[in-house]
Amino acid sequence: MKICSVCKKISATDQDHLDCVQRRSIEMEDEDFKNSIPEKLNLSKDNQELGVEVRAILEHMTKEKEKAD
Ligand SMILES: [Zn+2]
Repeated sequence: MKICSVCKKISATDQDHLDCVQRRSIEMEDEDFKNSIPEKLNLSKDNQELGVEVRAILEHMTKEKEKAD
């Protein structure tokens, strides 16, 4: 008998529960996928263009604020 390393419950076989192992691998893939999204966004041209627009808006707002002062 063995303690399943995923759910920490006793496994009847000498292996981790098969469904636990599968669930863990899906979660890890999911995590990898989430981690890869910011990378993809940073590399995307659209995101850079959006950054320029946002910066222009922020500069505009800063100027407006200076006028108000
Ligand atoms: Zn398990």
